[in-house]
Amino acid sequence: MAAYDHENIFAKILRGEIPSTRVYEDDETLAFMDIMPRSDGHLLVIPKTPCRNLLDATPEQLAAVTATVQKLAKAVVKAFNADGVTVQQFNEAAGGQEVFHLHFHILPRQEGVAIRP
Ligand code: 5GP
Repeated sequence: MAAYDHENIFAKILRGEIPSTRVYEDDETLAFMDIMPRSDGHLLVIPKTPCRNLLDATPEQLAAVTATVQKLAKAVVKAFNADGVTVQQFNEAAGGQEVFHLHFHILPRQEGVAIRP
């Protein structure tokens, strides 16, 4: 597995070098809107410390990120009056990962509405 690249897009978002719509932040994690939302309210949750993906995560990073994922999954269901929520997470190019900083997608879902490609 390749080393963590400090110039990946989410590292730049963390450093404030490129803009993002931040929706939640604590000492260890950040959440912001996905630039190409596949459902209304599509969010991304990332750790603030360098981590390429799940294969590279420490138990502490994983615990912090999943705690935020659960908190925000509950919050978006309420905020979007959603019928459900899809959580997605990809690892390495072969696993569908495009940005190489650990992230979880949170997609609020409405009954009968497919997520966009
Ligand atoms: P993945 O690595 O899980 O396949 O997908 C990366 C996700 O990051 C995609 O859903 C994509 O729309 C999102 N993304 C890529 N570049 C940016 C960006 O500059 N800003 C934000 N907010 N999201 C981005």
